[in-house]
Amino acid sequence: MSDAGYDHATVERRWQEAWDEADVYRTPDDVEDPTYVLGMYPYPSGKLHMGHVRNYTITDAYARYRRMRGDDVLHPMGWDAFGLPAENAAKERDTNPRDWTFDCIETMTEQMESMGFGYDWEREIATCTPEYYQWNQWLFERFHEEGLVERRDAEVNWCPHCETVLADEQVEGEAELCWRCDTPVEQRELEQWFLKITEYADELLEAIDDLEGWPNSVRQMQRNWIGRQYGTELDFEIGEYGPVEAFTTRVDTIHGATFFALAPDHPISEELAEENGDVRHFIEEEADPDGDEPNGVETGLTATNPVTGEEIPVYVADFVLSDVGTGALMAVPAHDERDHAFAEKKGIEIRPVIAPEPDDWDGKTVPDAPDVSEEAYTDDGVLIDSGEYSSLESETARERLTEEIESAEEATQYQLRDWGISRQRYWGTPIPVIHCDNCGPVTVPEEDLPVELPEFINTTGNPLDAAEEWKQTTCPDCGGEAVRETDTMDTFVDSSWYFLRYVSPGLEDAPFDLEQANDWMPVDQYVGGIEHAVMHLLYSRFFTKVLADHEGLAHREPFTNLLAQGMVQLEGEKMSKSKGNVVSPQRIVEEYGADTARLFMMQAAQPERDFDWSEEGVQSTYAFLDRLKGMVEQYVTNEPDGDDDAVASYVDAEIDATIAIASDEYDDLTFNKALRETQDLTRTLRQYANHTEPNAEIYERGLSAVVRLLSPVAPHIAEELYDELGSEGFVAEAEWPTADVDRDYVSKRRRLVANTREDIRDIVEVAGIEDPQAIDVVVAPDWKYDALEIAIESDADNLIGELMGEPHIREQGDAAADYGQDLQAEREALSMTLGPDDEHAALESAAWLIEREFDAPVRVVRADEADDDVLTNAEPGRPAIEIDD
Ligand SMILES: [Zn+2]
Ligand SMILES: [Zn+2]
Repeated sequence: MSDAGYDHATVERRWQEAWDEADVYRTPDDVEDPTYVLGMYPYPSGKLHMGHVRNYTITDAYARYRRMRGDDVLHPMGWDAFGLPAENAAKERDTNPRDWTFDCIETMTEQMESMGFGYDWEREIATCTPEYYQWNQWLFERFHEEGLVERRDAEVNWCPHCETVLADEQVEGEAELCWRCDTPVEQRELEQWFLKITEYADELLEAIDDLEGWPNSVRQMQRNWIGRQYGTELDFEIGEYGPVEAFTTRVDTIHGATFFALAPDHPISEELAEENGDVRHFIEEEADPDGDEPNGVETGLTATNPVTGEEIPVYVADFVLSDVGTGALMAVPAHDERDHAFAEKKGIEIRPVIAPEPDDWDGKTVPDAPDVSEEAYTDDGVLIDSGEYSSLESETARERLTEEIESAEEATQYQLRDWGISRQRYWGTPIPVIHCDNCGPVTVPEEDLPVELPEFINTTGNPLDAAEEWKQTTCPDCGGEAVRETDTMDTFVDSSWYFLRYVSPGLEDAPFDLEQANDWMPVDQYVGGIEHAVMHLLYSRFFTKVLADHEGLAHREPFTNLLAQGMVQLEGEKMSKSKGNVVSPQRIVEEYGADTARLFMMQAAQPERDFDWSEEGVQSTYAFLDRLKGMVEQYVTNEPDGDDDAVASYVDAEIDATIAIASDEYDDLTFNKALRETQDLTRTLRQYANHTEPNAEIYERGLSAVVRLLSPVAPHIAEELYDELGSEGFVAEAEWPTADVDRDYVSKRRRLVANTREDIRDIVEVAGIEDPQAIDVVVAPDWKYDALEIAIESDADNLIGELMGEPHIREQGDAAADYGQDLQAEREALSMTLGPDDEHAALESAAWLIEREFDAPVRVVRADEADDDVLTNAEPGRPAIEIDD
């Protein structure tokens, strides 16, 4: 338990106050292009959870690292403060969303401070303040002026009992019941506001290629979400309805079209529903676009295939979506899986017209049809049974058919839809529009912004709609009586530009200071959850591009590097309140301190990976910090006076190696690797002090390096120890240690030492040696190093022959032949080692570690001082071992 360890509460409070007093994390407006490190701002639920702690420890550690490297750093924090949960909480507690939200913000601010996160709190923003949301309104109007806002009908959830529109979150369960009264929710068409993100679909898609600092998974999710497809639009005639436009990416399969399908809300479907009871029943009762199986109803109509003149049956089918393509499609069961499933269900013909291209195909003969009875053949191939187009390849056929079918033209389709931002809720940004009977919807004049929220009204419906006094106003155009728009904006609008507000948070005449934003943006390192891979990150990219086009922003992408952090789990499961498996960060901070929580989390796994919370892991992390504190105190009270000997030089080299490797890992945000190095060095220092009286200079250099390498992740204890070591100022502002090290050399040296210790362990165990008296470690003769190098570089079939071509190897006789055969056998796996002199030196300096482990004197012997029979076993990277027992 922590009682036995250091007083983390006092240490952490002391340094939090000291940082605060010295404004350590303040970023003045006049710094040039700071490194901008940002965590996705939280929704103020009132409780910091482990996911937050991980997210913000990552940004904090990286921000601290960059600051120590000499950068100016911008590391702000704010609140995604609008949203339905506050409305619900206010209703439950009979308060209002504003008071509830600010209470939560206060609590979470304290929790963040207790974690030691180094934010510039002067830049704090909360999106629910009029000072912030007036700029949502201003941006809405700017988008409107630029033709990027549109009002159109869209479906909303409607409770017939409460007579109100419901947000998606207010519709409960599979049965889709009203959250207040359990009445089944209906769909209604209402006019809604849309931001025309589809205008930017191509750029949003194509610029993904250049987002090299983003995880590939997120880039691919955005590509799929945008979903651009090239294809053909063409008309099928449907009797009295005339030509109906369909979109297909596979016009090459048109000879295999055996039915035609319409979306349930296609105008023809809706017209049919009025006279045809089956169609009406299907549309109203059965159609389920989210269902596992495609479903549909025959209409009795036929459509004319524009190429063959064939009449094919027309269905209304729920797998056709009205907002994708044209809401109508030609169905080819042999070459599309969904069409195939539908055809099997309805007993429609499945007619193959594409065959896989045979390997030895001559380009002319028509290949055999594939078997499509069980499943569709969906790849491109060669056309068969397609009249004059037979034996063409798919791509050529698509080009020719698009050219030759009279109604056909090339078309591009997207999955991406315009962004509906209207929400029928209270706790959001009022959409700055006034509805006038004479003038229609009119935007509120800029000088009248912000349109502030009225007092909260506790009602079953939309509180703004119930705010009668607030709603009544006059039309800015004609001065007549008019009413305000009562919908508020999707809170994703707030988060689409908040990173720009931090640049100049108090600015009163613009959302952001353009010059400052041009200098400080983009965000250099953004960190947040993978659940935001699409919407938030795509909307932010969209806003940035619009601001670049119309407000002079000099950047078209908001986030240069993105890290999507993994989950903190408990026994392999996501922590959740409902499962009751939540570990509270507050408890961990109380029991072990923030440094322990932060350090445990960062060393447990790479930031992108999920990992399991472990109480034992937390305890051993705490014990590590406690031991380190003891080492520093021991050193300070009793300064050692040891020699700068071989042991000291080993430690010295390890200090440099650790600094170099840990720094590289910090650059890559692989904190777990940096921390493993740092902990290994701490262990080496402790062994050093236990083994002999350390050299003061080298030992202190080691302790100081450990403290600084730990400080981004465990900042409080690092300040404490930095202070105890007599350093000036804050470690938070100290210089990052540097070392010039050949990492390749280091890893060869470390591998040599590790392999040697391993070999000794094996021999001791296999030979049953209980008490070794002396250990000789014999370095291989020079010629073996030469032979190894030749073997690695040679591409000759006859390696032995090549080796024997070297006189100084040949003269080793049988030994050379034996070693040559070993090399030949392992040829693929060979790797370079250090040279014989370097290996000797490395083993000499590490000999003390072997002596400690086996409690016996160790001699490192050169080949020319050893017996021939011993030398047989000595190889580069693998010295021979002799043990006296
Ligand atoms: Zn209801
Ligand atoms: Zn008017």
